[in-house]
Amino acid sequence: MAVRYKSIISYAEIVKREDMMLQKGMNFRIKSTYSIILMSVRKGAPYRDKWHDETGILEYEGHDELRRKDSANPKVIDQPMCTANGSLTENGKFYEAVQKHKAGHSKAEPVQVYEKIAQGVWCDRGRYELIDAKFIHDGARNVFRFFLKPMSLPLSRQPYLRETRVIPTIVKVEVWKRDQGKCVICGSDKNLHFDHDIPYSKGGSSITAQNVRLLCAKHNLSKSDKIMSVAPWLTSVASFFIHRTG
Ligand SMILES: [Zn+2]
Repeated sequence: MAVRYKSIISYAEIVKREDMMLQKGMNFRIKSTYSIILMSVRKGAPYRDKWHDETGILEYEGHDELRRKDSANPKVIDQPMCTANGSLTENGKFYEAVQKHKAGHSKAEPVQVYEKIAQGVWCDRGRYELIDAKFIHDGARNVFRFFLKPMSLPLSRQPYLRETRVIPTIVKVEVWKRDQGKCVICGSDKNLHFDHDIPYSKGGSSITAQNVRLLCAKHNLSKSDKIMSVAPWLTSVASFFIHRTG
């Protein structure tokens, strides 16, 4: 059976899983086979990251010059490709990887993505591949925009990605706070998933905090099992639940 992707993960769990502290948002090839980025679309997030819901593409903004006492506000100067001594910044490394890939010299860089959804609360968004990059003028200065496509994952992992897209971040944060970061059935704070109470086929398409709750993996799974056995004829409902726990 494929590894199940946890949808919610604490920072401590990220550190444990990746076996390192992540100090920065952009971490090119920090692991031997992939890069890691931390991102957020929260209000007040430092960069303008953005999900394209139709395609699942993540548009990720490059990072600013480090803030220094005697230099201009980093938000008004171009995002740097190189450091003062001429080596590539993280922007530069990701940008160069895209150029190599587009020239056919390498495969697209695999990138593990973690999304911050609230203080101390992260979502494991799974693996992406870095397919494009732009250095564009945003009206005030030049910034990097990176484009990451969800990797074609084994079927068992894909629906999770769908689930995290269909429940808006603002709803997740509200639910997380209301349920106090615990499974509403057993109180566990491990392996949590957002559970969408009313299936789409039953009119649950408008997602509000009222029809979303936190469940641990065990209760999320037992729920899908139950639906399968009680109502095998509700194929679409059953597959909805099974997929969502993937
Ligand atoms: Zn539980």
